Amino acid sequence: MSVLYQRVAFIGLGLIASSMAHAIRRAGLAAHMTGTARSAQTREVAREIGLVDQVFDTAAEAVAGADLVVLCVPVGAMEAVAREIAPHLAPGVTVTDVGSVKQAVIDAVAPHLPADSHFIPGHPLAGTEHSGPRSGFAELFDNRWCILTPPEGCDSPALDRLSRFWRGMGANVDLMDAPHHDLVLAVTSHTPHLIAYTMVGVADDLRRVTDSEVIKYSAAGFRDFTRIAASDPVMWRDVFLTNKDATLEILGRFTEELFALQRAIRQGDGALLHEYFTRTRAIRRGIIDAGQDTDAPDFGRARKHGADV
Ligand code: NAP
Repeated sequence: MSVLYQRVAFIGLGLIASSMAHAIRRAGLAAHMTGTARSAQTREVAREIGLVDQVFDTAAEAVAGADLVVLCVPVGAMEAVAREIAPHLAPGVTVTDVGSVKQAVIDAVAPHLPADSHFIPGHPLAGTEHSGPRSGFAELFDNRWCILTPPEGCDSPALDRLSRFWRGMGANVDLMDAPHHDLVLAVTSHTPHLIAYTMVGVADDLRRVTDSEVIKYSAAGFRDFTRIAASDPVMWRDVFLTNKDATLEILGRFTEELFALQRAIRQGDGALLHEYFTRTRAIRRGIIDAGQDTDAPDFGRARKHGADV
């Protein structure tokens, strides 16, 4: 793969930025990489492991001369970062992000960027429950989707270059408008995370089941929930605060379905339960057939592999 950007700057050096840095190196997609993070500790770790070529103490220094800037901070921090970097951006730069919600990021970032920059928001649908500069790995995006939500009138060479960049990191690229992205993700990621948080909270609340029993007898269903519910609290707080409408819409539907299943259980309606579970099993089959998970009994988690986020 050839070099697509001369200088890529990361703002935020956590799981996603570090995975991108590894994937970029693996494919030789950038001539030079810079980065910065909020805390001195993260910057120090990044320097120690040589995550990028240069780690700067300020975002202004990190973005200077970059032809691609990637915002890799929690969604709620995007606006402050955009304000900070705007005066230091090179003319013609492409600015993108990896935030899990898109419309809120556009509203927060776009007004601050100079007119001669190209803002192309993005979201790689890959992640793990781990955080920080040591948690990244080059394979995270392999065969996963990266959704780009280019604004109307977006510069097509800039969009094409960014799409090739994500493909070079192993991802498949799809384009969508931001509200549609937010609704799709509310169904496939945001609401499931909220349900997992709730289920683990319920187990924690049940005093009849001691902590040790919850852990000792933890079966696959609950174990899967605990993995999801171990995800970064700041990131997920921001996701729900910024994708409020779509999440509430899907939660409303979820609650209706739950009541229907509750009634079926109470009434002993085995036919309804069987028909329902048969339908959901087919959805699982579709995900495996699409290559987005494996049929292995541990759902592929024994491999160093990310889950969709
Ligand atoms: P992470 O590992 O927790 O790293 C977050 C980075 O942002 C850290 O470098 C942190 O700096 C910095 N940061 C945190 N709060 C900040 C603030 N208020 N101002 C400036 N910098 C701040 O997070 P991540 O998982 O890479 O997530 C980054 C973005 O990717 C988020 O927007 C998230 O929605 C999105 N995303 C995450 C996943 C996932 O599974 N994790 C998947 C797809 C997309 P310090 O280390 O110095 O605190």
